[in-house]
Formats: sequence, structure tokens, C-alpha cells
Amino acid sequence: MNILVCVKAVPGSTEVKMDPKTNTIVRDGGSAVINPFDASALEAALQLKDAAAAAVESADPVRVSVLSMGIPATARLLADCIARGADEALLLSDRAFAGADTLATTHALECGARAMDAAPDLVICGKMAVDGDTAQIGPELAGALGYPCVTDVREVLSCNDTSLRVLAGTDEGVAEFEITLPAVLTVAREVAQLRMPSIAGVRAGEAATVRVLTAPEAGADPARVGLSGSPTQVVRSFVPENATEATAIKGTAAEQAAQLVTMFEEMGV
Ligand code: FAD
Repeated sequence: MNILVCVKAVPGSTEVKMDPKTNTIVRDGGSAVINPFDASALEAALQLKDAAAAAVESADPVRVSVLSMGIPATARLLADCIARGADEALLLSDRAFAGADTLATTHALECGARAMDAAPDLVICGKMAVDGDTAQIGPELAGALGYPCVTDVREVLSCNDTSLRVLAGTDEGVAEFEITLPAVLTVAREVAQLRMPSIAGVRAGEAATVRVLTAPEAGADPARVGLSGSPTQVVRSFVPENATEATAIKGTAAEQAAQLVTMFEEMGV
């Protein structure tokens, strides 16, 4: 079984600089970390790999690959994924990818998934990225690959060569799902806590070769990548001012509603 984990490099602190012209995050490799949800996604994949290795009857070993679209410095984070137990890493890195919205990111990741040596049987994404926070990539990637998708997975109950049983969050609470492979999961952080690398793993990470593909090498459509290939663009980003003064609205519900309407009109809302 081939498991592909989508790993995003996100700023390691809340102090992020935004490019005033493109309204995108200025990504410098130095302070980047693995998106915490993706660390859990990687551990979930590694646990499936361990379970397959322990199961005598399983003839089909599990290979775990990690895939990221990001700046060249992201290779450092992917090598760390290999140190923790991933088998291979692919980085999609090209200025053409910069400023992508989720649809353009999905196109790049779809090309990356199809550039792997073997088609993934299972793709695991984090539920969301802590910087862009849209939670759109997993379902969009499932649509692009034509795979079914379960989001917000809290626990993987069982897995065999043809299907998975999972517990996942829903609007009503938590429900059990069975999903046939190939499939896409997006996982919550409680699904697993990423393990520390072993000594041998650290050595493997240091010796790891992270495969890097440019947009043309990945077969990406130039019209569907990066800022120019994004149908949506962040037009303004700002840190909301914390208003200090507070206005108490009193009276009956109808009087309070009338005061609110007046306030909103004055605020030009
Ligand atoms: P999410 O959908 O939240 O990520 C879910 C999972 O997808 C991740 O856990 C990871 O497993 C995978 N994934 C996401 N990005 C990558 C990657 N680059 N490489 C590998 N795996 C990845 N774009 C929009 O289209 N619409 C918006 O409304 C929007 N709002 C934004 C607001 C802000 C403040 C910022 C900084 C960016 C915004 N973007 C938006 C751009 C968006 O962050 C990028 O498109 C990003 O590459 C993917 O979206 P996301 O971070 O929200 O991912």
C-alpha cells in the first residue's frame, strides 16, 4: 500500500510578514515548521506502516511518502519526515507556484501525487493548515484525484488492502465511517502524536535525498498555478484593532435591536 502524506511548511510563530503587494505570507525557511495537523497525519501513516509490518498475513508492505509544495528550504522539513520514518519525499518548488490559492495548490499537489513512482492508495492531509486555515485542500485534492474523502478523522479503527474504518467528526458529533481505497483522509490533531526520530532515523534523515520538481517537471499547467493561476486572491489582510471602548446596549429586545441597527448604520456596515 502506498500512503501519501501532504505536508505544509507553516510559519513557526504568529509573527508573520505579509507581502503588501500580493497579500501573501512572506515565507522564509528559517522559522518554518511542519503544520501541526500534518505531523499527526504523518504519524497516522507511520502507524499504518508499523501495523502492516507486524501483520504476518500482509504480503503488501506499506510505503509512506511525503509531498509538499513550498520554497526550497522546505526540503529540510521533508528530510525530518524521513528521519521519523517516511520512505521518500517529494518537494514541488518553483517561483511559479508562489501565491497559490487552494485551487492552484490542489492542482500542484495533484501533479505531485501523479509524479510519485506509484499511485497513492491513501492520501492523508491535515484537517487544515494553521496559516491559511481554509481546510479546503484535502477535499479539493480528493475531487482532483477522483477519490472519496473523509474529513476531520479522529481515529483510524482498522485498515486492510481495500478499505479503512475511521471515527470522524461531523456536525452532529463523531461518527464511524468505512471508506474504500483509494481515498483521501484529512485528520485532526488527536489522531496521533508524531514520534521522535530514532538514532538510525536521524542518520537516514541526514542522508535523505529529497526529490525536487519544478512546475514543468511536475507536469503542472502554467495557467493553473501560482498567483496568476488562482481564481481567488487575498485582497487585503490586516490585524484587526482591538477596540477598547465598549457600549452597553440596554432595554427590551426590540429596543436593543433598534440600537444595534443604528450603530451598524453609523459604522457603515
Ligand atoms: P488547508 O486547506 O487549510 O490545508 C489542509 C491540508 O492540505 C494541510 O494540512 C496539508 O496537509 C495540505 N496542504 C495545504 N497546503 C499545502 C502545501 N503547500 N503543500 C503540501 N500540502 C499542503 N486560499 C484560498 O483559496 N482561499 C482563501 O480564502 C485563502 N485565504 C487565505 C488567508 C490567509 C491569511 C493566507 C495566508 C492564505 C490564504 N489562502 C487562501 C492561500 C492558502 O493558504 C494557500 O492556497 C495554501 O497553499 C493552501 O491553503 P491552506 O493553507 O488554507 O490549506
